[in-house]
Amino acid sequence: MKTKAGLFLCLSFAVFFLVCCSQPKSRLPKHQQTSTGKKNKIPVQNAKLIYKEKKKRKLQPSIIKPKILSRQEWKAKQPVGKMKKHKPKYITIHHTASLRKKSISLGKKMQSLQNFSQRKAYLSNGHLKPAWADVPYHFYIDVNGKIAEGRDLKFAGDTNTNYDPSGHISIVLEGNFEVEKPLQGQLKSLRSLLAWLMVSYKIPSSKIKGHSDYASTACPGKNLRMELNMLCNQLEKKVK
Ligand SMILES: [Zn+2]
Repeated sequence: MKTKAGLFLCLSFAVFFLVCCSQPKSRLPKHQQTSTGKKNKIPVQNAKLIYKEKKKRKLQPSIIKPKILSRQEWKAKQPVGKMKKHKPKYITIHHTASLRKKSISLGKKMQSLQNFSQRKAYLSNGHLKPAWADVPYHFYIDVNGKIAEGRDLKFAGDTNTNYDPSGHISIVLEGNFEVEKPLQGQLKSLRSLLAWLMVSYKIPSSKIKGHSDYASTACPGKNLRMELNMLCNQLEKKVK
């Protein structure tokens, strides 16, 4: 009897040992294993990091570079002469001061502007404009809201008025906004271009102004100025 009882005990122990010790071990590394053994649970430390990352992403506005017709695409000529290097700190808005022309492509307009810019020319007020190295503006927004790249952003623009354009990113919109109203497509492109530039160069909305804030001129025209004030208020909330 004693032998049978001993044999029974031995067998029971062997079964217990097999059941308890043959459970498959988790393949997750130790730091990812949880006390319950469930694989899907994220450790507290990692969960905190993921939460922080998600929160950070949510705070950053989804600002992307708008589509811009490059100098290469509009077949720009090389600048002539030296240009002044600068660090963009302000954004200044202009109008072309001539009525919109729908029939001419943006590329052709940029080529004409560059030809005019790179030679001496008499202005409508009778003043003689010197030959500039390149187009005076960094961006041009046409009647259809298409954006073109003007002067390289590394260099200050040029002006016929009495202010130093160093540190200014100059954006010109096609039209005479003393008499015309800026079109929705133009304003939409201006908004996305401004948002992108503000984030890229860390420029607050308080540094976005019109040409007439710096010099005696009607530029960018009363109708665009009104829109610009509203746009800056919107951007102040959107881009932090
Ligand atoms: Zn201007």
